[in-house]
Amino acid sequence: MIKVVKFGGSSVANAEQFKKVKDIVLSDPARKFVVTSACGKESSEDHKVTDLLYLCEPHVRYGVSYEPLFSLIEEKYQRIKRDLGLTLDLDAEFAKIRGTMKKGMSTDYLVSRGEYLTGLCLAEYLGYSFVDAADVIAFAYNGEIDMEKTEELLSARLPEGGVVIPGFYGSLPGGAVRVMSRGGSDITGSVIANIVGADVYENWTDVSGIYVADPRIVPDSVRVARVNYSELRALSYLGANVLHDDAVFPARSKNIPINIRNTNDPVNRGTMILNDCSELDKDEPPYTVTGITGRKGFTGITLVKNHSTTEVGFFRRLLSVFEDHHVSIEYIPSMVDSYTIIVRSEAVANCLYDIVGWIREKIKPDALMVEEHIALIACVGRGMNHKLGLSGQLLSELGAHGINVKIIELTSDELGIVFGIDDDKFEEAIRCIYAKFIAEEKKESRA
Ligand code: ASP
Repeated sequence: MIKVVKFGGSSVANAEQFKKVKDIVLSDPARKFVVTSACGKESSEDHKVTDLLYLCEPHVRYGVSYEPLFSLIEEKYQRIKRDLGLTLDLDAEFAKIRGTMKKGMSTDYLVSRGEYLTGLCLAEYLGYSFVDAADVIAFAYNGEIDMEKTEELLSARLPEGGVVIPGFYGSLPGGAVRVMSRGGSDITGSVIANIVGADVYENWTDVSGIYVADPRIVPDSVRVARVNYSELRALSYLGANVLHDDAVFPARSKNIPINIRNTNDPVNRGTMILNDCSELDKDEPPYTVTGITGRKGFTGITLVKNHSTTEVGFFRRLLSVFEDHHVSIEYIPSMVDSYTIIVRSEAVANCLYDIVGWIREKIKPDALMVEEHIALIACVGRGMNHKLGLSGQLLSELGAHGINVKIIELTSDELGIVFGIDDDKFEEAIRCIYAKFIAEEKKESRA
């Protein structure tokens, strides 16, 4: 059994968290590959090391003293070293980073130092070998991870016993350090799981997996025991943020389950993300709705153009204005001759009136309306497939609570329903769907 375990920033925020990580790793001999993020926030007033490093960069660039910021980072690591009784030469490590900053370094090199230093501390503390991600995670020039090269490098450098590899960065063909997008340590963990053929990729964070509804809205929300990849994609698209999107593919392509776990509650089994849940569902059937998620802040541009359905190329022309303004379109609910184009409000913040003006002039619609402050909610679930009357129940539940549904989208795979309501009804809608589909089913299954 091989497990790749990745710890997020909150799991390594201070010495106390390092101790929890050690207990988790050493309690299972299969946990031989450890990937770490940079130290996260210890408290709400604290700062993530990566954020501080990103802030240092313009100081270096504009010649403003970065020491007040940089010394916060050094103090954090020195404290961890002292509290854990480590012996590594942090003074030399910081001297080297400062030296590079004086000479002028790349942003990627600087911001990768959080993971690098956390990895060094964790390796010593666990008694594992340290393998620098710059030596084993290879990027191609197009910015994608070169899996073949990474496999070659990693296999050549893997020592006997456990290893700690910093997440979030690797190196380009010329040797320069390159970082991934924020939260990228999830990707490193998944890539390593793929290469070493892990049986499971455990992603340790500060929540016990995915919840049916955001616990800030539904405080007693149940945890989702397992989801398949399509459900995960549908849920994370509209807001459930547990895993970096790009972390799915490397594990999925080798059919490696991803287990989201909580470092602060290690006995909780968390959420399993699988290619196919059907076998396990037989013993433990899922709720009809796996997750309810959503986001506020959408804008709908609705236009009516009589006889447009017979006009060849109409859609292409209409949508080209969004492409020209680099705005991606989320949904296009439509009726004969009438279309609503839903976009994120922030995406059109500076170009909404240019787009509307263009449509008015070039498309000459018979009617044109703009509506802001729309919230989209997705109800997702493999159990929703072929459940007769489910959309009806959902709509009547919302209606009973006086929530007006303005948009509704249902795909033919029946994986989910997306609907649009007013922003200010967002929380209430999530709570009433939860009460209808989860709390009631929970009561029934207990009865
Ligand atoms: N430390 C990086 C970030 O804060 C990467 C990661 O944590 O995965 O985004």
